[in-house]
Amino acid sequence: MSRTGARVERLPLARYTTLGVGGESEVWFVSTQEQLAEAMEQPYRILGGGSNLVIADGGVPERVLRLSGPFAERDLEPDPQLSTGTEIVTGWVGGGVPLPGLVRALQKLGLSNLEGTVGIPGQVGGSVWMNAGTRFGEMFGGLHTIEIATPGGVRQVTPDDLNWGYRQSGIPRNHIVTRVRLKLRRSTPGEVQANMDAADQARKGQPKNKTPGCAFKNPTLPDGHKVSAGKLIDEAGLKGTRVGNAMIASEHANFIVNLGGATAADVHALLEVIREKVGVPMELEYELWPERPELTQAPVAEAR
Ligand SMILES: Cc1cc2nc3c(=O)[nH]c(=O)nc-3n(C[C@H](O)[C@H](O)[C@H](O)COP(=O)(O)OP(=O)(O)OC[C@H]3O[C@@H](n4cnc5c(N)ncnc54)[C@H](O)[C@@H]3O)c2cc1C
Repeated sequence: MSRTGARVERLPLARYTTLGVGGESEVWFVSTQEQLAEAMEQPYRILGGGSNLVIADGGVPERVLRLSGPFAERDLEPDPQLSTGTEIVTGWVGGGVPLPGLVRALQKLGLSNLEGTVGIPGQVGGSVWMNAGTRFGEMFGGLHTIEIATPGGVRQVTPDDLNWGYRQSGIPRNHIVTRVRLKLRRSTPGEVQANMDAADQARKGQPKNKTPGCAFKNPTLPDGHKVSAGKLIDEAGLKGTRVGNAMIASEHANFIVNLGGATAADVHALLEVIREKVGVPMELEYELWPERPELTQAPVAEAR
């Protein structure tokens, strides 16, 4: 236990990532602002659902913070003072709440605005931090207030206070989204379900194995055209390429999957193969912990 009562344990991070890789690190389970403030006194990283991360086999040297207790609870009761006939503002929803369960609960209540995020396996905090979404909707489509813990203290902001945009919230790295209040439109369970089905349909063809999602962002060619990273990797003949127990998915070439027992080193090696064979500069979609700029940034190279 820490001074303020946070549970601190060395644990394999593989169990907290959707890829299922990541070595042992010091994990802090924080459930109060006091514990969070203590945890932030030394270098730290904040881990959400681990669905956008490849963590090295040796783990990370920093403290790894996980939101627990009240930070992983949700109060979806409408606030009578802020809600109207058509729009409701909820109570607090913790940053550690899993997004898929939240989306399901909102569907049952017939509350709309976040159903476009169906199928995103992250937590609320991580998904707000990067404004996760699909073409059917994104996190910032349903936010009223965001509570953020920083090394300088806790503050509450609205989306208007932030410079948010496509897959970015404008919240600095390592500022922690602890809780949010949602702004939702009253609808019906049937209508929300229909919107979810449309978003789900667009996911058909994604692999079912363990994965951290899409590997590369769609690059822009020198002539200004955006191309599909998956198509480029497929055209390079790389579907099904394996290093150790990591493989470029045969269903969709922009996914690297863990066939069981893969290591981060296997995944890094596959990323290198893709960069070398595709020949178009591509930027990595997910994060590598610790950072590996040579693998994540788009190299300056001639287009094919
Ligand atoms: C099968 C699959 C499908 C996916 N589909 C999509 C999709 O359609 N659209 C999309 O946008 N993404 C998609 N993703 C990627 C991923 O699910 C999202 O980016 C998700 O929002 C990441 O949230 P997380 O909680 O898992 O964050 P993590 O992976 O744990 O962390 C990602 C980043 O967020 C930071 N972070 C985590 N929690 C917090 C917090 N509380 N406060 C501040 N920063 C925090 C971390 O430090 C890290 O920098 C997909 C992933 C998978 C595996």
